[in-house]
Amino acid sequence: MRGEEPVVEALRMRALPEDSYDHLLEFLKLYRNAVQMVVNRIWSFNDRLSKRKLHRLFYSNLVSMGFRAHHAKEIYVYAESLADSARSNGGRKPILRKLSARIDRYDYKLDLDDMTLTLKLHSDYEARLKLLTSGERVEKFRGWGNYEVVVKCDGSGFWVSIYFRRAVKAVKPRTVMAIDLNFDNITIAVFSFNGRLAKLKRFKTPLRKVLTHRIWVERVQRRYSKSWRFIKGVRKAIDRHGERIRSISWVYAHKVGDLVAELASKHSSAIILEDLEKLRENNKKGKRFNKRLGLWIYRRIQFCIEYEARERGIEVVKINPRSTSSKCPRCGKKLAEYRHMVLRCRKCGFVGDRDVIAAINLYKKYMSRHPRCGVSGVALNASKPDENPSGMQGKRDDAMKNIKPHELI
Ligand SMILES: [Zn+2]
Repeated sequence: MRGEEPVVEALRMRALPEDSYDHLLEFLKLYRNAVQMVVNRIWSFNDRLSKRKLHRLFYSNLVSMGFRAHHAKEIYVYAESLADSARSNGGRKPILRKLSARIDRYDYKLDLDDMTLTLKLHSDYEARLKLLTSGERVEKFRGWGNYEVVVKCDGSGFWVSIYFRRAVKAVKPRTVMAIDLNFDNITIAVFSFNGRLAKLKRFKTPLRKVLTHRIWVERVQRRYSKSWRFIKGVRKAIDRHGERIRSISWVYAHKVGDLVAELASKHSSAIILEDLEKLRENNKKGKRFNKRLGLWIYRRIQFCIEYEARERGIEVVKINPRSTSSKCPRCGKKLAEYRHMVLRCRKCGFVGDRDVIAAINLYKKYMSRHPRCGVSGVALNASKPDENPSGMQGKRDDAMKNIKPHELI
């Protein structure tokens, strides 16, 4: 049941101990050693331990080392998660080197007006830290709940990350927004639960531009395959292109995330994305995504969509995109290429824009899994081939208008 869904965000900043930091440093070392001790013990069991068992095994031992009750809990939970992820990656036993401690909200006091953080340490010691960040960054989190901090110490000093949480009222979906991502375009289609197309939008992606930079980098790396790392000019040029790729893709991903979430808010949509992991398993990415760019750029776009959606309480669902771009949305038969980016069903004559077909099929898959009362699916009327798009890019948008949703078959 979806009600209030928490949004979590971390604020990371430098922190300066107000007086001596001996106890803080001592605490961080003690903490690291305690986590390591628990990891070592857990490692000898081959199974995941329950919270109760962890508590029984380690709690009193940790408390006798001077830790507070919640310190102890954080330590064994953290150790368990470390061991668990190392095991599931088939890795070795984790060895902790960095000085880092997770501290529960019962063991610190945060004062955002004063910009200070007071930590409760082992053996009743305390440490007060001045938080070094701008008031502007902090402003956003007023009214949020803070629940955990992570304190770190490295060669450059102390860092803290404060985790904030805010409850967002979940939007009850009244429409479904299917998003088809591919190399050239992002297609956004909003459907009502009874299959009407309420909104259709398409953006160009900057991926060709990104690919141009990528190809340049690859070419240079090939030409100087042994030496490019060592020639300063070449390395710098490669960095510059890498920087362009990163900047283009982030700017674009943020823009799309914001736009999609706003549109979904306006239409009270549930957002349907393609499950990229499934896409990899289906092993078809070469068809719709450019292999040279890999999936990272699509992941980044999805990440921004999900992030912005979560902030607005909008539900995001991932659907296996298997055959969504090759199956007839009306009769389910395989579609054939008809014209540039336009597909046709040989069985029932359905003709439509490839990206829109993918969006319709995503919508249908979602509806078949999330049935609403009285609605079993959607039928879309094919436009006649003669009213349909030519190979011209500009005409494709007309083609989308021609796909008129009709009543259910
Ligand atoms: Zn068909």
